[in-house]
Amino acid sequence: MDTGDFRAWVRESSRLITEQAGELTELDAAIGDGDHGINLRRGFQAAVEMLDDAEANTPGTVLTTVGRGLISKTGGASGPLYGTAFRQAGKSLGDVTDVDAARLGGALEAAFNGIQQLGAAREGDKTILDALGPAVTAYQVAVEKGGDLAAATRAAAEAADRGRHETGPMLARKGRASYLGERSIGHEDPGATSTALILNALATVAAGEAS
Ligand code: ADP
Ligand code: MG
Repeated sequence: MDTGDFRAWVRESSRLITEQAGELTELDAAIGDGDHGINLRRGFQAAVEMLDDAEANTPGTVLTTVGRGLISKTGGASGPLYGTAFRQAGKSLGDVTDVDAARLGGALEAAFNGIQQLGAAREGDKTILDALGPAVTAYQVAVEKGGDLAAATRAAAEAADRGRHETGPMLARKGRASYLGERSIGHEDPGATSTALILNALATVAAGEAS
């Protein structure tokens, strides 16, 4: 994936999040404060605008620019978490201009580690990590089996979708939803859901299907 593909990933993420903002907000209304869709839509739209202005001319700088945009504009707990994820992913790419499957795997892992370090959640706590963790693993398995970027990102997106659904029966142990205790059970996590959207956007772009 080159710089243009990374820009396309950000645009496709913004498009999907804008389209699904209502659903994300409904999920957050059930176990949080109902702002996740609004927060992320604002953050991604700002990131797209920043990219239009910025001279981000490597995949790494595209991702660090998005990270900055998300941190400054998203709000809520998810802004700093996603912002850190994109910044760490961007840093891990260094100044490489063409990202292969192995390097993208490293970037996804860096995103996961960034969120885990900042938010101190573990898998099973009903957060973003419950979509991202399985996605990183599925991505790496696909690459080990000889899968290319398109195959590995598709495997990651499918694992994120499954992971997101598996948050339904979980008890929330981090973030606002944890205040609900047992009442958080039975609702899918908004952050895991938005993560699945972002990874589906990645798979779409890697398959060459984004506009
Ligand atoms: P807020 O909870 O401040 O309103 P958002 O609604 O934008 O923020 O985001 C809520 C989402 O953030 C949750 O659904 C969850 O996935 C994610 N989240 C919250 N705390 C953490 C954490 N410590 N680690 C990972 N993800 C978290
Ligand atoms: Mg919220």
